[in-house]
Amino acid sequence: MSDWVERDAARVWHGFTQMSVYGESRPVVVERAEGHELIDTEGRRYLDAVSSLWVSTLGHRVPELDQALVDQLGRIAHSTMLGNGNVATIELAEALAPLVPVDDPRVLFASDGASAVEQALRIAFQFWANEGVSGKTRFLALGGAYHGDTFGALSVGDAGFYGELFAPLRFPVLRAPGYATPGWADATIALVAEHAHELAALVIEPLVQGAAGMRIADPDDVRRVGEACAAHDVLLVCDEVAVGFGRTGTLFASERCGLRPDILVLGKGLTAGYLAMSATVASGRVADAFLGADLGPETLYHGHSFGGNALAAAVARRHLELLEERNVLARVRAREGELRALLERELAPLPGVREIRLCGLLGAVELDTTEDELLARRVTAATVERGVFVRPIGPSILIVPPLTITTPELERIVAALRAAILETAPVGARA
Ligand code: PMP
Repeated sequence: MSDWVERDAARVWHGFTQMSVYGESRPVVVERAEGHELIDTEGRRYLDAVSSLWVSTLGHRVPELDQALVDQLGRIAHSTMLGNGNVATIELAEALAPLVPVDDPRVLFASDGASAVEQALRIAFQFWANEGVSGKTRFLALGGAYHGDTFGALSVGDAGFYGELFAPLRFPVLRAPGYATPGWADATIALVAEHAHELAALVIEPLVQGAAGMRIADPDDVRRVGEACAAHDVLLVCDEVAVGFGRTGTLFASERCGLRPDILVLGKGLTAGYLAMSATVASGRVADAFLGADLGPETLYHGHSFGGNALAAAVARRHLELLEERNVLARVRAREGELRALLERELAPLPGVREIRLCGLLGAVELDTTEDELLARRVTAATVERGVFVRPIGPSILIVPPLTITTPELERIVAALRAAILETAPVGARA
């Protein structure tokens, strides 16, 4: 065990990680990065095939983003958004406005995806009270949903992810089937119609349920669900924390599904993965319902210390320009086809591979873990050993490369996974 791992294990508590085995699990301790590669304390290089938990869009140390950060440091790092403004944050909101699929958008900034989801729930709930409509106090959410780890987000999220323990603390939510269930859209539409009188909003991850292991929906189904919400006056909250900023080949997945959500939740890729910034984007109709007398009950009494951070805003604004300048969306669509062909050819036929799922550059290789529930963990370790950094969720290994990944790099990811699966698959399956 290296000195760094020992120091890490002694003092740093890692999320979603069993610390009793952390030191022995050969963790990568990153010291720096170059482009798409992470470099550890021993100088070993790893292709970042999870984009540092799906946040990094253009890779690491992008000169233009570094410069935007340095320039902003010369002005100010942070000032509060409560009752006051900041130039960098105003400019970002203005740059986002014509790009988001939301009518007359108003942007409430926060720091993590989960805190932006909390804001969305709070806004959707209070909207109806401000409108003078009583009884619309419940949320509808999907099976397999994941919206973050704070309690509101945990409540609209499905009970998986070890949330059962916290059942007494999670508020009750009406639950529709998830994307993995055939007919999920019709069942959801029926629930919207039946419960509209008591529903504040439907909360949905448009197109792909990421943490469920990249479960992919038909865009037409998602559109139909959105139309049902509009028809029954149930607010539509689209959580694009994972799918936003080009991940699925359009800037926002809602666009691909033909949706204009009442509330859009953004995070992760907003700052290209540089800094913690998220946003809750409300339509003009929703935001206007909060206008009233100073200190009156219509006000949204909600805000985070670091919401609208100026450093993050400056990077996020430059990032929007770079997505355009580097033609990133077209590149995602081209790489998606190549990755699909590679996965089908090199991985799908292997013993132990149950299913391949891919939408844009959100991919999952689901393994058959009936004989060995730790198989995905072991294949992950063997892949990382080969210099390709991936992470599992349940039985699936996720492939979420930077949006600027190249064709040879995709080949490198798939070759490492193939070798790792062949090396790790149960002996019976290998024969
Ligand atoms: N919503 C979705 C759809 C997510 O995938 C995630 C994180 N993976 C979150 C919300 C929570 O974001 P954060 O981890 O930044 O709190």
